[in-house]
Amino acid sequence: MNILFASSEAVPFSKTGGLADVCGALPIELARLGHSPTVILPAYRKTRYCGQPIEPLGVDFIVPIGSKMVAGHLLKSVMPGGQAPVYLIEQDQYFDRDELYGADGKDYVDNCERFVFFSRAVLEAIRLLDLKVDVLHANDWQTGLTPAYLKIEYRKLARYQNIASLLTIHNLAYQGQFWHWDMLLTGLDWRYFNWRQMEFHGHLNLLKTGMVFADSISTVSPRYAQEIQTSPQGCGLEGVLQHRREVLSGILNGIDANQWNPKTDPHLAADYDADSVDQGKPICKAALQKELGLPRESHVPLLGIVGRLADQKGFDLTIEVMQRWVRNEDAQWAILGTGEPKYHKALEKLAERFPGKAAVRLEFSIPLAHRIEAGADMFLMPSRFEPCGLNQLYSLRYGTVPVVRATGGLADTIVGYDPQAPNPAANGFSFQEYSPLALDEALRRACDAYRRPEIWRQLVATGMKQDWSWGHSAKEYVELYEKTIERGKGVAN
Ligand code: ADP
Repeated sequence: MNILFASSEAVPFSKTGGLADVCGALPIELARLGHSPTVILPAYRKTRYCGQPIEPLGVDFIVPIGSKMVAGHLLKSVMPGGQAPVYLIEQDQYFDRDELYGADGKDYVDNCERFVFFSRAVLEAIRLLDLKVDVLHANDWQTGLTPAYLKIEYRKLARYQNIASLLTIHNLAYQGQFWHWDMLLTGLDWRYFNWRQMEFHGHLNLLKTGMVFADSISTVSPRYAQEIQTSPQGCGLEGVLQHRREVLSGILNGIDANQWNPKTDPHLAADYDADSVDQGKPICKAALQKELGLPRESHVPLLGIVGRLADQKGFDLTIEVMQRWVRNEDAQWAILGTGEPKYHKALEKLAERFPGKAAVRLEFSIPLAHRIEAGADMFLMPSRFEPCGLNQLYSLRYGTVPVVRATGGLADTIVGYDPQAPNPAANGFSFQEYSPLALDEALRRACDAYRRPEIWRQLVATGMKQDWSWGHSAKEYVELYEKTIERGKGVAN
């Protein structure tokens, strides 16, 4: 099968979050299964330094954006390992910037225009590069317009007639919502600007557009696929999702088992696997404590957090609980993240006042993320909602026990340990109610278990033995692509 991945980010070319991990790993796994994936991405400034060879193709194109005609160029690269070609859309006015979507906590004001351009470029690239495509796999709002362009404009053309489209929602909270006049930028007729198609409460909504026009919709865990059909997780789009529930499914993300492997991870002070975790992990813990300036105490539980400092990730709960724990409890905190200024401030303050208990790094550092995954004893994800979550899966592989709120993909992957009813499948700790008290209790349960080595070893071993690599999920995507092709057949525009 020929799958064209259209995405605004993919590892190693560009990354702000889990979307990049998925779009970097799934194509490689599909190629391993004998399929032919192709990836198409914007050429951001950072993309030039990604380490992969990038060549100009000498293929230029022009697309209409509102009343302008805008030119772009195609560059060629390849996924690491060489199995999947990657095409990059170069347009320096839009993409040669420091960041992907915005700076100083604010979105770029022309984000709609940038991704209208990218979406049109994706459709044009199929023709210009003579790509064979069975399924156009769009991801999130940035490529939400591609299923619409396919159905409204391109399916009339012979080369596009048999292309079906799938939209994967990686996070429904980010919808690409813009003022209604941006409809003009899309070049699509105003008749599509209605509450059943592209309009949402008076605004242009690019994610909704993708959800309406794609032949299939998926999201990144079965639980989240259910949750988003109801309020509040549906973020206002629950009605659209209920309406399209027949074509909506949830497939768990996998992890890139090469990049996230404690046995071969170049960022760690010691390598280890399930058999040698008792030797390797204490070395990683001591190295992390040293790196972060925390006292080198091997018996004190070290709690790790890596992620966007956003409301979604439960930082209001974390900070409230931390404020008590740094004063009263024998535990250390290692936090890596960037995001909202209010959380930057609160975390910095805690780290300043309690340097022996809390270490905070407000930056984006992949090596440090790996070292926290390896060096921490527990990994916290008290998310308000979590479409899939990757960090808990990395933690399981690194023998770091996740403490999570049971929502979305966290509920699908973490089986909580309950001392009253021990379950051999338990691989972490979970709580339900979104409250500081519930998080506090879950942490206490985790710290109690940490002090009982026979229980802790069992939890670590269960997680480390589980296989969260892409193998299984990629096969589910193949089945979904097959269904999508069937659904796309003979669909009238
Ligand atoms: P989301 O996509 O909602 O941000 P996920 O858990 O699905 O959350 O994926 C987040 C990815 O981004 C993980 O690979 C995580 O390690 C990485 N990440 C997030 N923040 C940072 C950071 N400050 N430094 C390094 N990696 C980070």
